[in-house]
Amino acid sequence: MVEKKYIIGADIGGTWIRVAISPLELKKETIKIEKAKTLKETKFSISSQISRIINSLLEENSIGKNNLLGIALASAGPLDLNKGTSFNSPNLGFKEVPLKAPIKKEFSDVPFYLINDCSAAVLGIHYFEASKDEKDNLVYITISTGIGGGVICNGYLILGKDGNAAEIGHSKVAPRSKEKCGCGANGCWEAFSSGTAVRARALNALENNEAEGELLLALVNGKQSAITAKEVFEAARKGDILSQMIVNDCAFYNKVGIGLINNYFDCKAIYFGGGMMNDQDMIISPVREQFKTNPLQFTINNPPELKLTKYRHDIGILGALALVKYKVEHHSVVSTYSF
Ligand SMILES: [Zn+2]
Repeated sequence: MVEKKYIIGADIGGTWIRVAISPLELKKETIKIEKAKTLKETKFSISSQISRIINSLLEENSIGKNNLLGIALASAGPLDLNKGTSFNSPNLGFKEVPLKAPIKKEFSDVPFYLINDCSAAVLGIHYFEASKDEKDNLVYITISTGIGGGVICNGYLILGKDGNAAEIGHSKVAPRSKEKCGCGANGCWEAFSSGTAVRARALNALENNEAEGELLLALVNGKQSAITAKEVFEAARKGDILSQMIVNDCAFYNKVGIGLINNYFDCKAIYFGGGMMNDQDMIISPVREQFKTNPLQFTINNPPELKLTKYRHDIGILGALALVKYKVEHHSVVSTYSF
């Protein structure tokens, strides 16, 4: 009897870590996912936590280490894929977080892959969701606390020399603006359109009395610190002038950012995910409308289809699993992955 083979994927975020095990066939129904709060006591906490969860998944399912064909970690960037680390990530708690070396120590005979979480996600879309004619020219964009992307162009995953080719959130859309981004630069797309930016800009505008924000303040009983992007969107819907100003900017810079991505990659479809998609009607719909009525204002190429991923929070981990499967099967889409 041929022994069944398994693959492991993990998705590392600032708040949650997800680890999954699946038979190599990779069917939605047979994937087992464990979710835990991200530990940040030392820079090795994350790797120890992942090793621990992998070991317990193996034990619970009576699977030996020798039946594993690969482990892929999808992590918030930026990454140094050659060193196997995440660095300068505002969300993981340390200047440098070693990922490859400690996991390799625990699972020395298992092939290991590290990838940016959004690059993983685009592989997840490629495997689980995209139609045949979308697969070769496909982009994934997450709009969440930050903005990130993953790109497949002409059938190949685009990674770059360090694995950061699609750090699209830091596209400078208004470099002379005073809006500061988490990366330290001014005028990044993320500094206008991410959830973090929407909240920060609302607080700023309230402080400077830029416009009426009464409806927004009413939503949080006057407690400014309780404002998140969600309340800003809700207040905008109710007619709050200050919130509408910020939501309009958010939508406008999404048009700029998405237009740039389409200019660079001439994509067939862009799938969106991330927490901000709860208000997708105010974020994606205006871009769709814009592309329909006057695409030239923001992109020179034929506009792509704009869609939402149905896998939301799981698309990163599904993509990590897809990466291992594609590597095992020598799929051409990951032939660019050589780290
Ligand atoms: Zn930036």
